[in-house]
Amino acid sequence: MEKKDYLRNLTSVNDLIQAVYRSRALGKGMPRELVTEASRTVLDGVRGAILAARDEMSLKEIKTDTEELVSLVEKEVEEKVRTSLRRVINATGVVIHTNMGRSILSREAMQAVEAAASYYDNLEFDLETGSRGSRQMHLEKLLRELTGAEAALVVNNNAAAVLLALAALARGKEVIVSRGQLIEIGGSFRLPDVMAESGARLVEVGSTNKTYLDDYRAAISSETAMLLRAHTSNYRIIGFTSEVGLKELAGLAGEFGLVLLDDLGSGAYMDFAKYGMPAEPTIGHSLEEGADLVCFSGDKLLGGPQSGITLGKEDLIEKMAKHPLSRALRIDKLSIAALEATLRLYLDTDNVIEKIPTLAMLSAEPEVLKKKARALARRIASETTSISAEVASDISRAGGGSFPLAEFPTSVVALTSTKLNAASLQSALREADPPIIARIKDDRVILDMRTVREDEVTLIAEALRIIDGGGGAEERE
Ligand SMILES: *Cc1c(COP(=O)(O)O)cnc(C)c1O
Repeated sequence: MEKKDYLRNLTSVNDLIQAVYRSRALGKGMPRELVTEASRTVLDGVRGAILAARDEMSLKEIKTDTEELVSLVEKEVEEKVRTSLRRVINATGVVIHTNMGRSILSREAMQAVEAAASYYDNLEFDLETGSRGSRQMHLEKLLRELTGAEAALVVNNNAAAVLLALAALARGKEVIVSRGQLIEIGGSFRLPDVMAESGARLVEVGSTNKTYLDDYRAAISSETAMLLRAHTSNYRIIGFTSEVGLKELAGLAGEFGLVLLDDLGSGAYMDFAKYGMPAEPTIGHSLEEGADLVCFSGDKLLGGPQSGITLGKEDLIEKMAKHPLSRALRIDKLSIAALEATLRLYLDTDNVIEKIPTLAMLSAEPEVLKKKARALARRIASETTSISAEVASDISRAGGGSFPLAEFPTSVVALTSTKLNAASLQSALREADPPIIARIKDDRVILDMRTVREDEVTLIAEALRIIDGGGGAEERE
């Protein structure tokens, strides 16, 4: 057959559309526009391939059966219909993974979000007086009760909280920061850049590894408005180091009438050491030590939605709330709903760890993780032939700049395949539905059970079964 014969035998767009609608897989109600467009795209692709074919062999390889074209159209439509933001299975063991949405919400928080999304609410409406209220009222009192702080303000995220504090309290003035704390987080939060945008002037003191109280004292001038301490969330300077404690900084700030802002980053509410986890500076501790303002993220160790919480002195919080930027940086109602429900769980300290997924995963018992790993390994062994799974001990990280150096002992399932090398197996898992995100260690694909939910064990085994039967298109190198 010649090229023109292939082209002539090809089904028409209309016939292809009809065939698609006759096929059951796609179901009814698929938007006609999408099916039409996808059919055109597929046929154009096939025509292009025929015209480009260099010999009989490559011509024969082109799929022209209507049935095969239908499945191509279906694939094309599915891709169009599928949302871009999708569920993934986090098998990295990194609990607060910024690229995978940081904290997942508690059931209580999810229910609050659903209600806030489905109905009108008293977001900015005072039910007692029938007049306008503030969206902060749903969080402020609760935050005060939980932390003992004088006042609270919640904005879109912690970067916004820092920006707002600087703009409202130090615009045109100087802010002193230790060189060892000039942090960059996730490539987008750079303290010096945030400072520049706020209109405050950065004054760096000390050296990268050592800063003393006298360095701060020497830098104070009539232009100084604030001392800023930033938690070095995602790194530690170790060895020959010295940073000034918050208490000493508070003394100095008091002496000169300066604002002391503590950017805690992760914002641990409780002392995790009590639960067998490494110590992380707590919100309460910062306030006790004398920080005028403390700010932190809502979706890191707090385990809530994206948000930035500032606690502290009433007059300072009020200045922030009244600043024009606070409107631009305000928190949305769905996040308020989720945050309020999350915070309410902290009222019940006996059960909070269990109820907030981030805390539950961080404190998961080694035995529980091992059991989950064994269950998954067994499923994989019984459902695949080319993939072998071995339970092993490993280390998980908290992520999100929380507990930067801490190692959480965990159980993992280590995969090797006779058909695929580690990188190919890793990317095949990423193409599964839902995608499974794993890491590679020593040429094996590692599934860390700390962040894998009970009901995801089945999904992972199922994905590996499909990968196993996938004909081994890619050879093991
Ligand atoms: C994470 C972090 C931020 C940024 O917080 P977002 O909520 O992501 O905006 C700022 N400062 C510190 C110290 C952090 O750890």
